[in-house]
Amino acid sequence: MRFFIKSYGCQMNSYDSQRMSDMLAGVGYELVPSPEDANVVVLNTCSIRDKADEKVFSDLGRLKSIKDKSSEDFLIVVAGCMAQLRSQDIIKRAPYVDIILGPQNIQQIAAIVDDFIKNKALDTVVSTSMDANSKFNQLFGKFSNRSVSEFLTIQEGCDNFCTYCVVPYTRGREFSRSVADIINETKNLISLGVREITLLGQNVNSYNGEDLGGKSCNLSGLLFRLADIDGLKRLRYTTSNPKDVDCSIAEAHRDIDILMPSLHLPVQSGSDAILRKMNRKYTQGEYLRCIDMLRSYRPDIAFSSDFIVGFPGETDEDFEETLELVKKVNYAQAYSFKYSPRPGTAAAKMNDQISDDVKSERLQILQDLLNDQQSQFNENFIGRCLKVLFVKNGKHENQLVGRSEYSHAVSVSADNVSIGDIASVRITSVASHSLIGTIER
Ligand code: SF4
Repeated sequence: MRFFIKSYGCQMNSYDSQRMSDMLAGVGYELVPSPEDANVVVLNTCSIRDKADEKVFSDLGRLKSIKDKSSEDFLIVVAGCMAQLRSQDIIKRAPYVDIILGPQNIQQIAAIVDDFIKNKALDTVVSTSMDANSKFNQLFGKFSNRSVSEFLTIQEGCDNFCTYCVVPYTRGREFSRSVADIINETKNLISLGVREITLLGQNVNSYNGEDLGGKSCNLSGLLFRLADIDGLKRLRYTTSNPKDVDCSIAEAHRDIDILMPSLHLPVQSGSDAILRKMNRKYTQGEYLRCIDMLRSYRPDIAFSSDFIVGFPGETDEDFEETLELVKKVNYAQAYSFKYSPRPGTAAAKMNDQISDDVKSERLQILQDLLNDQQSQFNENFIGRCLKVLFVKNGKHENQLVGRSEYSHAVSVSADNVSIGDIASVRITSVASHSLIGTIER
């Protein structure tokens, strides 16, 4: 039997897709590069914005025509956040979908697919229970197909209920894996040639796992543990919530050499009124003090962030405060989106929704400012050296692409360096989304 997996959305979905691949390969299925060659197609979906859902429905339409023409078993599995949030909509709009798996049911994929084929099931099988503990305890399968830079989920779910967000409804309450579990998986990845690990959590800095002595361990404690593991060259983590940042994480950035000086710290808005309506539990002032505190421990730390424009009730003054905040922080990189009402969230029911024209106008203004900051940040490195971990071949012959300590994409001609190496690169120029350099001897 052959399988194909398509992953949408965030890094945590990439991690879940990798684990589903391990489990199907673990029971003898073969991974193939396209759905046409597969017997089982898994769409591991995202539901962060409406556009994401519609993309899945159009992909399902394409799979239906392959299924209709196929003479062999051809199972369609919809997994991930959209499966959790909209299982009944999927059954209504795409009744030819065979299996629907919520994010905390992926550990059952091999057994459910096997049963479905053996029993020649006719109805869609839906498994959307929420239990992260059993998920991580039941994940199995020999790790395979790993690159030199990999994700590792340490925490899943969220207790914050920001009024625009579906995560608490798709990934449940916060659950932290044990330190022992994470150390084992880290060692396993390093034995496969992984050199850089990015720890994942929807609220990664509220990590609170059981330590080796049975006590609880926070993110900083975990980072110091992992930094002692031989063979691990680089450590990163995402996504942090500003309200949970404390000095212990700043100390980790000051004292751990392999912890990279780039931190993704989503702020969403610069207006206290909007932050209250979003239920973000911090103010603009507290966010800026957090940035200053981190910079006082690690002056070269680079910040990235997320922004939502056009949140219900956002006035011109509110938006101006967001622009003011951006000017004060000066971001290395940032992602910005128009507010998209999500089913079941409090904000979707709020009055004074903003028109799409106003959202587009504000998004353009914000993105122009953020792009200027990013270009300035990148140009500041021309003539300077960066430590780059090479992760893949570039588009051009004899070209390698890597990642700097500040998360830049950096490309060089591959003279005497290979994927997995870390080398000093002198930056010679800036391209649209990456830096270009030469290996420093
Ligand atoms: S903290 Fe993040 S994941 Fe949690 S509800 Fe807010 S936006 Fe969603």
